[in-house]
Amino acid sequence: MSRCLDAARGAIARCQMLATCSEEPGRTTRTFLSPPMRDVHDHLRTWMEACGMEVRLDAVGNLRGTIGQGPRLVIGSHLDTVRDAGAYDGVLGVVLGLALVELLEGHVPFTLEVVGCAEEEGVRFGVPFLGSRALVGTAAPLLDLADADGISVRQAIRSYGLDADQLEEARLDAAGYLEFHIEQGPVLEHLDAPLGVVDAIAGQSRLDLTFTGQANHAGTTPMPLRRDALAAAAEWMLLVEHAAHTTSGLMATVGQLHATPNIRNVINGRVVASLDVRHAADEVRRAAVDHLCAGAHAIGRRRGVAVDIARHLDQPAVAMAPALTGILAEAIAATGLTVHHLTSGAGHDAMIVAPQMPAAMLFLRSPGGISHHPDERVLVEDVAAALEVGLQFLHRWDPRHA
Ligand SMILES: [Zn+2]
Repeated sequence: MSRCLDAARGAIARCQMLATCSEEPGRTTRTFLSPPMRDVHDHLRTWMEACGMEVRLDAVGNLRGTIGQGPRLVIGSHLDTVRDAGAYDGVLGVVLGLALVELLEGHVPFTLEVVGCAEEEGVRFGVPFLGSRALVGTAAPLLDLADADGISVRQAIRSYGLDADQLEEARLDAAGYLEFHIEQGPVLEHLDAPLGVVDAIAGQSRLDLTFTGQANHAGTTPMPLRRDALAAAAEWMLLVEHAAHTTSGLMATVGQLHATPNIRNVINGRVVASLDVRHAADEVRRAAVDHLCAGAHAIGRRRGVAVDIARHLDQPAVAMAPALTGILAEAIAATGLTVHHLTSGAGHDAMIVAPQMPAAMLFLRSPGGISHHPDERVLVEDVAAALEVGLQFLHRWDPRHA
């Protein structure tokens, strides 16, 4: 359908334009309620209003455009990014919701709300999903978290001109939630498929382990007397890698290391290491986390290095709603494409929303499997296919059966 192809080109151009709204010149970095987020909101508001949507910012800074009447279907994703991000993670899902409203020329037989979530990546406050948690009423406990500059979520909201005390009004009352998102992995590309239906989102644990030994002179401290925090962390990292290699479906990553003093001729006295563990089965994930924590303590004891563990996130695996997922599969089949089902290894706003309302996700192929990187891409044909599927989905969605 050439209308969808044109709309796809437009959506890609919008994503690329919004990617220039950044905290860092020359690359895309846009965290929770940062100044460039205001530019993104302004652009989206203009486009949404131009196609007849009513637009507001809720109390956490989610941008919400609404059109139509009656039972509510939400199409949402997030507008924040990781550091040095690509142009499509999150933003594409919001832009595609808007593109569908444009393709329908505002003729929606129910209420369609397009939501651009304020925060999903967890970059600024270390805890993800601020935006979608506000949609389901679970964001309040996060208001006192502070960013690297000591600014709390509550203060960031106030500085943006919003009121954290009004958080309840951000609550979403909808009969369904649909999220378009790039796959951020290589599975669809390997299947030579533009689109895939997400059946479930893997559970996720995030921890920080602090290894505390003794900083000392690299030339004068005998090897047996050292309490090298970085060497302890390194030994533990190999345990992490080994556990993931030997447990089917387990993903475990140490993505961040802060060594102190991190100087060429000094033994490191302190290392903070992040740990990210994911699996489709919660019991497997939790057992792995326990194993890796016990392993860190054992390594620390042997090396005279103290280990402190902070558990920041224990996000259970979340199934998408079979009824909605079924409609999505029908919609894909109606466009003549093969229906592929997959588990998402990445967390998404749909995962936060799903316990409270029927939710579904459509993945778009990520060329090269690349995401969270400036080389992140989408193919225009895939985006057009997603729009065709989106139209088919909207045509089939019935709130009474959702
Ligand atoms: Zn995302």
